[in-house]
Amino acid sequence: MSHFDFDLFVIGGGSGGVRAARMAAQRGVRVALAEALGTDGLGGTCVNLGCIPKKLYSYAAHYAEAFVEARGYGWTLPQAPVFDWARLKTNRAQEIARLNGVYEHLLRGAGVTVLNGFAQLQDAHTIRLATLNADGSPGHQTLTSQRIVIATGGTPHIPHFQGHEHVITSNEVFDLEPFPRRLLVVGGGYIACEFASIFNGLGAQVTQLYRGEQILRGFDDEVRHFLAGEMRKHGVDLRLNAGVVSIRREADGLHVLLEDGNRLVVDAALYATGRVPNVTGLGLEAVGVAQGPQGAIVVDEHYRTNVPSIYAIGDVTARLALTPVALGEAMKLVDHLFGPAPGQPPRDMSYDLVPTAVFTHPNVATVGLTEAEARERFGSIKVFRSEFRALKHTLSGSQERTLMKLVVDGASDRVVGLHMVGADAGEIVQGFAVAMKAGATKAVFDSTIGIHPTAAEEFVTMREPVAPPAP
Ligand code: FAD
Ligand code: NDP
Repeated sequence: MSHFDFDLFVIGGGSGGVRAARMAAQRGVRVALAEALGTDGLGGTCVNLGCIPKKLYSYAAHYAEAFVEARGYGWTLPQAPVFDWARLKTNRAQEIARLNGVYEHLLRGAGVTVLNGFAQLQDAHTIRLATLNADGSPGHQTLTSQRIVIATGGTPHIPHFQGHEHVITSNEVFDLEPFPRRLLVVGGGYIACEFASIFNGLGAQVTQLYRGEQILRGFDDEVRHFLAGEMRKHGVDLRLNAGVVSIRREADGLHVLLEDGNRLVVDAALYATGRVPNVTGLGLEAVGVAQGPQGAIVVDEHYRTNVPSIYAIGDVTARLALTPVALGEAMKLVDHLFGPAPGQPPRDMSYDLVPTAVFTHPNVATVGLTEAEARERFGSIKVFRSEFRALKHTLSGSQERTLMKLVVDGASDRVVGLHMVGADAGEIVQGFAVAMKAGATKAVFDSTIGIHPTAAEEFVTMREPVAPPAP
């Protein structure tokens, strides 16, 4: 046992930090975890301000179309459904508080010392924890650890412009008061598209502005165009090559001057213009921890920084900002530092074929390469594509359409990209990601029997490739 207070000190109680602390404690080492927001913050962004509340709100928004579509199936509602924003917020807050408690219980049950406070590095083994005394006055504790893991996540970034102080980020959107009847969303990434869909579904009039040619840069081009069309069909006023010049608060709302000279009046403006590593006040500079663009902590393949006792995982390293990635990194790190769980091989973490979903209406899910990436990497590829109206919508009256796409390496026949825009895309693509990790070829897909009648069966019944683009 080392002469330090702890063997491992984890800074940040989010997805990566909680998993690392809990697993390390299960290996029998002395672990502390500090969370700046106290036990209410346990679970981090995903639980408190990200994946979970966002998905709950997305479910809430889906009910709006379900009520309408039910008519085609013979249902008559005695009166028009009424949405209660306050009840949704309260129920969400209760569920999140329950999850905070579950995380605390798991940590303490594993033997982790859970500390409430903002942690700052003093040197390679020392942490200063800013806390509150019993009377509410500020206090602090100094603690030492043989190793330190930084898992402080990310934080929203808002560009500077005239009136930027009037806008909100995803941190504030969950508790907006009152419900924004007219909402401006700026950005074209995951968060902007998801919240544009959610608030549109909940009944707001949503205008979404994206500065580029098409939303969801980095996704397959066809998927991007298809989603944009579907979001517009659902009612989002999506404007491309568009931006804000200034925002002014007036009695009737926020007055927004757009780059094209048009004006909007909205109740709230949500900026979803990216997130940056959460490193302010951590003391990285004093200890000499190397940082990259936007302050991201630079780590090697074992998540070690240039200071040998200090490691970093999750969004603070600005690799892939997804909860399962932060969890995977935590597990690989703990196995590397303290050995794998009894009887288990050490875990690795691959950044290849990471599936992901965007919980827009309809959902997008994808794994592997876009068509353009595959063409560049393999030269000769085959693309299989299916676009259709889901069976459910033959009676529902909805005009929503589904897109499915397979990208196949011409030489090896391996499926290297799989994309879907449609209901439950995330649920469907997860399973196909396993097949692709296992190296499934198109021939394997073809030999797989479909489950009928489902949308997912289309992935195993696409026979004819689409014609290659003209040279
Ligand atoms: P975080 O979960 O951000 O945790 C960091 C923690 O560190 C926080 O609790 C913070 O309070 C604490 N902290 C910071 N500084 C200090 C300090 N100095 N001392 C003590 N504590 C500190 N990912 C998905 O996979 N699926 C989704 O559907 C999804 N939806 C999202 C929706 C939104 C709106 C957002 C914002 C993100 C979403 N994400 C989603 C991304 C996901 O939330 C993050 O990738 C994930 O939470 C990263 O985990 P982490 O451990 O790196 O950091
Ligand atoms: P993203 O990086 O996904 O998107 C940011 C968007 O803002 C882009 O469209 C970007 O445009 C635009 N933008 C950036 N700067 C400006 C600016 N100055 N003015 C106008 N527009 C600007 O970030 P998000 O904030 O949406 O999400 C952060 C990360 O969190 C995601 O990348 C994802 O990893 C994770 N996340 C995952 C979710 C999921 O798994 N379902 C859901 C939500 C978040 P451009 O493309 O031109 O750069």
